[in-house]
Amino acid sequence: MFTKILIANRGEIACRVIKTANRMGIRTVAVYSDADKNSLHVKLADEAIHIGAAPSSESYLVADRIIQAALKTGAQAIHPGYGFLSENAGFARGCAEHGLVFIGPPATSIESMGSKSAAKTIMERAGVPLVPGYHGDDQNPALIKNAADTMGYPVLLKAVAGGGGKGMRQIWSADEFDQGLAEAKRESMASFGNDDMLVEKYLTQPRHIEFQVFCDGQGNGVYLFERDCSVQRRHQKVIEEAPAPNMSETLRSEMGLAAVKAAQAIDYQGAGTVEFLLDVDGSFYFMEMNTRLQVEHPVTEMITGEDLVEWQFRVAFGQPLPKQQNELTINGHSFETRVYAEDPNNDFLPTTGQLKTLRTPTLTEYVRIDTGVEEGDEVSPFYDPMIAKLITWDNTREAALARTAKALREYQIDGVVTNLEFLYDLATSNAFRSADLDTGFIEKHHDELFRKQHIDQARVLSQAALFLTLRQAELTSEQHANNSAYDLSFASDPWRSNDGWRLNQRNELRYNIKLMSHTSDSTKTLDHHALTLIVKDNDYVIHVDGENGPIKITAQAELMDQELTTILDGHRSRVTVSENTETFTVFGEHGSQRFAIVAPDLGDEQTDQAQTGFAAPMNGTVIDVLVKTHDKVKEGQALIIMEAMKMQHTMTAPSDGHVSELYCETGDLVDGGTSLLEFEPSVVQR
Ligand code: ADP
Repeated sequence: MFTKILIANRGEIACRVIKTANRMGIRTVAVYSDADKNSLHVKLADEAIHIGAAPSSESYLVADRIIQAALKTGAQAIHPGYGFLSENAGFARGCAEHGLVFIGPPATSIESMGSKSAAKTIMERAGVPLVPGYHGDDQNPALIKNAADTMGYPVLLKAVAGGGGKGMRQIWSADEFDQGLAEAKRESMASFGNDDMLVEKYLTQPRHIEFQVFCDGQGNGVYLFERDCSVQRRHQKVIEEAPAPNMSETLRSEMGLAAVKAAQAIDYQGAGTVEFLLDVDGSFYFMEMNTRLQVEHPVTEMITGEDLVEWQFRVAFGQPLPKQQNELTINGHSFETRVYAEDPNNDFLPTTGQLKTLRTPTLTEYVRIDTGVEEGDEVSPFYDPMIAKLITWDNTREAALARTAKALREYQIDGVVTNLEFLYDLATSNAFRSADLDTGFIEKHHDELFRKQHIDQARVLSQAALFLTLRQAELTSEQHANNSAYDLSFASDPWRSNDGWRLNQRNELRYNIKLMSHTSDSTKTLDHHALTLIVKDNDYVIHVDGENGPIKITAQAELMDQELTTILDGHRSRVTVSENTETFTVFGEHGSQRFAIVAPDLGDEQTDQAQTGFAAPMNGTVIDVLVKTHDKVKEGQALIIMEAMKMQHTMTAPSDGHVSELYCETGDLVDGGTSLLEFEPSVVQR
């Protein structure tokens, strides 16, 4: 076996690979950019080599520097992880030229799958079923349109060189075709420097089912069953599971064999994934093959009991596959939820910031977490904003899903906006529990997924007020103990000036608390609430807004470190609190609630500019300005396209109107909140 390998990646996947290497006694070399000096993957590896600046184009994508790092440290092989150089045939070749083993497929296999149309041609020859469509070299638009007309609408245009959902357009009727083709070509040229298109039948309710395959250099090939990844946003996976619900044994082996056939058609070696669309009538079609380890490989590991990274090492070292098909079985059910720094209430846009609080659920044989970050780390704008993968297992789908929901409730992250609440709502939704899966899942079940969880407002507000009271008492007694100036966490604490405050004395405290919504947009705070707390020894009487008007609650409370225990009208419960500069978050049975306190009578300082001013929703690049000053625009018309962390966000006109000012141009790097454009709505005459 190898004695030393280099991992040409970062984050959770680098940590994941290191874990198996450690278990097998293989030494590891990490590589890191300026932004990752103190990252977990660097700490976990035996050695680490600095390879450049933070942007990946200056570090993780510079093949030559990575190869030099391997040579310098005496690593015998390079594991590319996923993303970055993992599907770069040139890099795989470069490794070989320097006598290094690329832990992945041969460069020729990567090349075969690099073009969607060439891949289809190979699969067609190998007898793997394809979505009906046209994927020829002749790019005459009339010919492509004719193919679409013949198979009937809707159709899907795809960039031959595409990936990540770019250059893809649904066309619902013949009269939309020409414009759709032009748009898809433009997007494809901008993203891939190539605007060749293929067209295929658009399936309206398909499931995304992918098969894990493995091949060795001795001609063996197996499939390690399937994963259902139908729940997607922006064509990216949100929650994955194995096995796929309602999959018959017959269909499983039919699709599994087709997947192995697909891999063998390109002389594959190592771990690969063959993606299929499964139509409602049970027909399945080859979509593409990913020539690397997938993000979602852990669910396969959980149900097969195999370590796929170990398999990769063995195959790359020239050993045969550890198991044959008849030795592989499915045991139980597994889910993976991807915990992202992103804002589901703001179109799933990535968020950045420091992970001020990061507490994970307890790890057991049922709960696994793959991550590359620790409390205090930054989620930077340079890389994918994934914080962790939460993986659960149990004997049945229902039990595994219950574990996912419980673990999501135990996850406590503060400092950046995350999708944790959304994942919880998803995992506990009736639609997901009943496995009503297809790739339109999120849109179809939007109302259920974005339902506002019912929270007992009076209870959470009381907990917030009790926390503030006890925290203040703690600070006061610390001050007495130290007899020196101390740091106040809450600069705007309205009763900081409350000099006459004493413990063990009747006192009336007033708070004005804002319950914030879970969104990165700080203007989107929810309601203000005025609370009164009457303190008598260790008992409190709280007057607070309830759902149906003001109510009175009797309470006792205790704060130990960050754990707050309250008894509210005889109902005892425990929550955890984390503090930020201007806000604090209470993590409880109903998830997390974020609060801010404001000095009384300040009123709402924010005026709502959302109607007329357009601010950048994130740090990023303006990649297209589609309007000019004074342009008249229609409601819904695209105005500006921004990109950050591989995601595009289009800002559209909220109504008919015109552009009164334009403050940005294509190529500008802007901070979140920067004004980009002023918009004036037309006056509607009735
Ligand atoms: P990319 O390489 O850009 O990610 P894919 O070909 O892998 O594009 O497709 C991404 C997603 O788009 C799929 O997971 C599926 O949800 C959807 N999709 C792709 N092809 C079709 C089709 N013919 N009909 C319906 N949906 C499709």
